[in-house]
Amino acid sequence: MLRAMSAPISAARDPSGRRLTTTEPWGAQVRSAVTDLAGLEGALELSPAERAGALRALEAGFPMSITPYYLALCDRRDPTCPIRRQCVPRIEEAQEAAGDLRDPLGEEDHMAAPHLVQRYPDRVLLLATDRCSVYCRFCTRSRMVGAGGGVQPLAHLQPALDHIRSCPEVVDVIISGGDPLVMSDGRVALLLGELAAIESVHYVRVASRTPVTLPQRITPELVRALRIHPATWLMTHFNHPRELTAESRRALALLADGGVPVMNQSVLLRGVNDDAETLEALFRGLVRNRVRPYYLLQTDPVRGSAHLRTPLGRGIELMAALQGRVSGIALPKLIVDTPGGHGKVPIGPDYIVAREGGVTTLRTHRGTLVDYLDPPTLT
Ligand code: SF4
Repeated sequence: MLRAMSAPISAARDPSGRRLTTTEPWGAQVRSAVTDLAGLEGALELSPAERAGALRALEAGFPMSITPYYLALCDRRDPTCPIRRQCVPRIEEAQEAAGDLRDPLGEEDHMAAPHLVQRYPDRVLLLATDRCSVYCRFCTRSRMVGAGGGVQPLAHLQPALDHIRSCPEVVDVIISGGDPLVMSDGRVALLLGELAAIESVHYVRVASRTPVTLPQRITPELVRALRIHPATWLMTHFNHPRELTAESRRALALLADGGVPVMNQSVLLRGVNDDAETLEALFRGLVRNRVRPYYLLQTDPVRGSAHLRTPLGRGIELMAALQGRVSGIALPKLIVDTPGGHGKVPIGPDYIVAREGGVTTLRTHRGTLVDYLDPPTLT
């Protein structure tokens, strides 16, 4: 069953005693984000595992930050709340499972220049900042987010921009971090202006979770800055239908109306969205708000995330349950980003039962077996 929306945490306070509100503009949301145990205890009734996790987050290098807005989506009393599981640290983060990696996508082995990862010939990943408004507990880059570098001055990104200029085969630049939309409008505009001036860059993807965790960040001024490159796409990460609030829906409408297409990559997370009913509601809700569900990502085996990961077979079962139940426009690809940075692999239920002599037997979502005949060979 989907849970009802929890009441706003109007009584929550930050460590200095200031009352947190969910309607503050984005800068104030970032400044009053909860970053320590005292702030968290003011907002939520913590379980022992969460209390120990929050204490550890202060020491372990993977910090905690939760905007008042996102904190208000958490159930105050229930540690199994799917929003809470995404943002509140738990002591299980201290455990390492077989296959856990510090850098699961091998990004450090694929640095083409400082702050620039290149794993494919046609696209690069530009790491513009290490800051986020909320540090997601399943983050692939938990090794580096919030590590202290902050927003990279343009001068530090020049070698990366020079590399992009020198590689005309690079047509697709993904600006990520951290969350690049925690940077100012001016900084976003500056970076997109640099990329727009490189003729070989056909499109830019800005990877940001702000429509989910800080929707106040999406303003007409920001949309104008994003449009500085004529083909800017926004890649976001809604993981649960409860994240599609009135504020988030407003942000998504501003982006769509302003000419910025939005795609969503959900992460399949245990205890958050690993059931067909939740995923169906999420994918339908996204399309209704003009967002294309693009990938359902198997959680990367990043160190300390085993408690949030599902077995690969679970994702395949879920895709089988959704096939035929949800239209193609709302059905993402299930993807494993292979450990070590070897690239993405689409996986899913196998619908081919037999294939011989130009006849392929397919199993439909209803379980019916149907033959498909290849065309005759033309002479
Ligand atoms: S917003 Fe993105 S980069 Fe930041 S913690 Fe979440 S997943 Fe990681």
